[in-house]
Amino acid sequence: MDKVIEFSKNMQFTYCDSILEIIYLVASILFILGLKMLSHPETAKRGNLLAAGGMLIAIIGTLFLHRHNGHRMGNYMYIFIAIALGTAVGWIIARRVKMTKMPELVSFFNGMGGAAAALISLMEFPHIDKELIAQHGLLNWQALVIFLGLVIGSISFAGSMIAYGKLDGKIKDIRSKLLRVINIILLISIAVFIAFLMTRGQADLKTLSPFVYLLLIVSLIYGVLFVLPIGGADMPVVISLLNSFTGVAAAMGGFLYNNLVMLTGGILVGSAGTILTILMCKAMNRSLFNVIVGAFGATASTHESEQGSIKEISISDIAVLLSYSQKIMIVPGYGLAVAQAQHLTYELDKLLSEKGVDVKYAIHPVAGRMPGHMNVLLAEADVPYEKLIESDEANTDMQNVDVAVIVGANDVVNPAAENDPSSPIYGMPIVQALKAKNIIVMKRGMGKGYAAIENNLFYDDKTRMLFGNAKDSIQTIISEIKSI
Ligand code: NDP
Repeated sequence: MDKVIEFSKNMQFTYCDSILEIIYLVASILFILGLKMLSHPETAKRGNLLAAGGMLIAIIGTLFLHRHNGHRMGNYMYIFIAIALGTAVGWIIARRVKMTKMPELVSFFNGMGGAAAALISLMEFPHIDKELIAQHGLLNWQALVIFLGLVIGSISFAGSMIAYGKLDGKIKDIRSKLLRVINIILLISIAVFIAFLMTRGQADLKTLSPFVYLLLIVSLIYGVLFVLPIGGADMPVVISLLNSFTGVAAAMGGFLYNNLVMLTGGILVGSAGTILTILMCKAMNRSLFNVIVGAFGATASTHESEQGSIKEISISDIAVLLSYSQKIMIVPGYGLAVAQAQHLTYELDKLLSEKGVDVKYAIHPVAGRMPGHMNVLLAEADVPYEKLIESDEANTDMQNVDVAVIVGANDVVNPAAENDPSSPIYGMPIVQALKAKNIIVMKRGMGKGYAAIENNLFYDDKTRMLFGNAKDSIQTIISEIKSI
């Protein structure tokens, strides 16, 4: 009789395991499809829901079907309270956050992912398989995965928190050559620490625990220090790098638990983040090594070149200039997001297009405050995707553009990136608005951009400034054009 019960129990476990494996497979497929759909604004929303659905079934499946040594998961009450709290907090924050604060939110959530991965490693260190230790000491794959998860996860957590503070304007850039040296020393120390721990042979795990905490602290310090000097135009690269770190750290958890869905999710985030980082590095003309040792950009420029005077333009002059142009290039920037002027910008575009004007948008890869920020904004306003042109391509035709209309952009059109080697944004490709026949800049005043540097484009002979909130300015231009 006992044997029958034992047999039926085993069958039940195998049955649960198989269903769970299928759920993980479906979830992984949903992640992949979701990620693919995220690459186009039209399908991005559905892709996001699809991937979230995959995560939901993976969580439910794990909760109710996962068995460890034949036992179901315990601590259900704590788990449900934690899930309820996390869901409520996440829901409220996501609903309340303004579009312009989205990058900070992304950084914050990314940091939480890193922290979770680091905590998994801390929790699992004392539970490394005894058999593995008996055979290989700590020189085994489980220990390696745990240390890497701990280091990468905590760097991602600490770095993301600093990035959050910087995007929010609460933390200023701190740059010094000493920091670069310290960062290299910290990186070497982390590698030495891991080597030290892994060569402890059969040592008691409890006696090694303080060293693991020390490794955590060194990694956290490195996370803080490698993001501290990064500023100006270089933040986007760091943000995508931190994103990939969190993915890799989560994948380490997947290896550790032999969990297919965690592994797939981690690898997808890690590889997508890495590809984005490489693309960002190329777009910004930066080297990845410089990001890792926190030696980005040049030191802050104190040099401010000679400036002429600012020339303003009246609404009626703009209306005439735009209406009688053949080619117009709109250059959107962070200010367009702040003003939420995307819908009116498209209305202006349609109005001018009806008059036969060729209107396009030059999209700089780091315009705004998160990768793809302008694409998302303009897609929200239904601007056709074909109208959005990458800055490289836009530059090749810029000399034929009658008017470059800069809406709340600053750093991404700053010629200092091309002609001032002491500038923190030197080397970053820009939208070469200066090459257009006329330039109109819409901004509220003479406020600086994210890199906090002067922009000589605003003082150029061809440039005319229209001061005011971008949304109000565009609304007035639309009314004026309609009355012509
Ligand atoms: P910038 O931050 O350089 O400039 C934005 C300009 O918009 C400001 O000069 C401001 O001037 C103006 N502005 C603000 N609010 C309004 C408003 N309501 N109406 C009109 N104008 C407004 O933006 P860019 O897009 O040119 O450059 C992005 C910068 O952010 C780059 O340095 C980039 O590296 C950095 N960054 C980008 C990230 C990304 O992933 N895309 C992430 C982190 C940083 P004023 O106050 O006078 O109105």
